Amino acid sequence: MARTVAESSPPDSKTTAFIAAVCYPAVSELSVYEVLNRKRRGEALEPGIIEEFIKRYTSGSVPDYQMSALLMAIAINGMSGVEMATLTQAMLRSGEQWHLRDQYDFIADKHSTGGVGDKVSLVLSPWVAACGVKIGMLSGRGLGHTGGTLDKLEAISGFNARLSRKDFERCIADVGCVISTSTEGIAPADKKIYALRDVTGTVESLPLITASIMSKKLAMGASALILDVKTGSGAFMRKYEDSKALAKSLIAAAEGSGTRVEALITDMDRPLGVAAGNANEIAETLDVLAGKGPQDVEEVTRAQAVRVLVMSKKFDEASAKKTLEDALRSGRALQHAHKWIAAQGGNASKLPQPRETIEVKAPSSGYITFIDTYQAGMFTVELGAGRKKADDLIDYAAGIMFDRKSGDPVRAGETIARIQLGSGKGDPEELRKRFLSFVQFGDRPAASRPLVHEHLK
Ligand code: URA
Repeated sequence: MARTVAESSPPDSKTTAFIAAVCYPAVSELSVYEVLNRKRRGEALEPGIIEEFIKRYTSGSVPDYQMSALLMAIAINGMSGVEMATLTQAMLRSGEQWHLRDQYDFIADKHSTGGVGDKVSLVLSPWVAACGVKIGMLSGRGLGHTGGTLDKLEAISGFNARLSRKDFERCIADVGCVISTSTEGIAPADKKIYALRDVTGTVESLPLITASIMSKKLAMGASALILDVKTGSGAFMRKYEDSKALAKSLIAAAEGSGTRVEALITDMDRPLGVAAGNANEIAETLDVLAGKGPQDVEEVTRAQAVRVLVMSKKFDEASAKKTLEDALRSGRALQHAHKWIAAQGGNASKLPQPRETIEVKAPSSGYITFIDTYQAGMFTVELGAGRKKADDLIDYAAGIMFDRKSGDPVRAGETIARIQLGSGKGDPEELRKRFLSFVQFGDRPAASRPLVHEHLK
């Protein structure tokens, strides 16, 4: 993380556009070369300059090498709150805006900064919809060590994760929830810029991450957005203070947009749930919705679902908790999941199964004190559950089942994990060694960490 963001809250989009049009020179009056020099020296860029730079880059008249230079200067020198809000708005305006909140009395959206075993979106959507609250998400694929919601959904036979806007809205009308990939028209500037950041060492920049995430989220235009900002060894932001700075920055970028945003900082210092992969995470999602899933997944999802229901203004906290509990225990949440999957063309009754399962045994008695969750995520990628390159194919049956996790007591020789091989092969002893290389054992349990650290709004 290069810098923390200025604490000042940004102006709303109309104010920014007005200031841009009236007060500041456009990039044409100030050469691109001079803009780059100014940002390199750490000076703030005026809104009109940022707007014009993004417009020209999206249309192709500013080349990649000049955009790369700007991105590097931003990654090193940071941006003020106003610059960041303008960048977000400029990237958002590079494409379609759906304004969904104008069509429904309330529609929620959710974003996770990503993790290992993070199936919260999959559990949350039908659970919230079963309580009568609409939710729609334009979601992403796996990124590095973190799994992708769309990849998991595509493990389901027939599931269509590439919906047109019309089908996206049909799904909301029919079942109250939908998850689909972002269409070509949403924030095209982000698509170009993200590809460039990926190869120029500029992914880890608070203003660039903020503008990237929020330009896509605000383009959908939900009434409310719940952000799940992860922290710990498997998170995009490992350190608590960085996760909190990201949460605050994402909330600030939405100010004046019309989308109400809240964030929960949740733990990613251990995998979430038991399953990490794709098909195994769908199976676990259905278990949680049947009230039989791992408690940690249920707890982290419930915390976010409560906020969504409260933001809809149809519930207070107590009635939200009760309604969610009733939906889960009555089986309505699970029924809703099946309806939703069918509405997107899927059938989850026959999920891809591993060809081979390799058990990993505890080398000694004691406790698991730590699982390096980044390494666990990278291991799932090596097994084929994620991508090393953008065009890699996913092996939906590959993954890991964590039968014991950090804090759990173990007996020497008992099974602590199962490595699932799909179409891939591997020497079982090497795979066991690789698994044990990122798991620590001790005589005493490590201090326990909360699953939900903080709520910000
Ligand atoms: N996810 C995004 O969409 N963009 C980023 O920059 C990082 C994570």
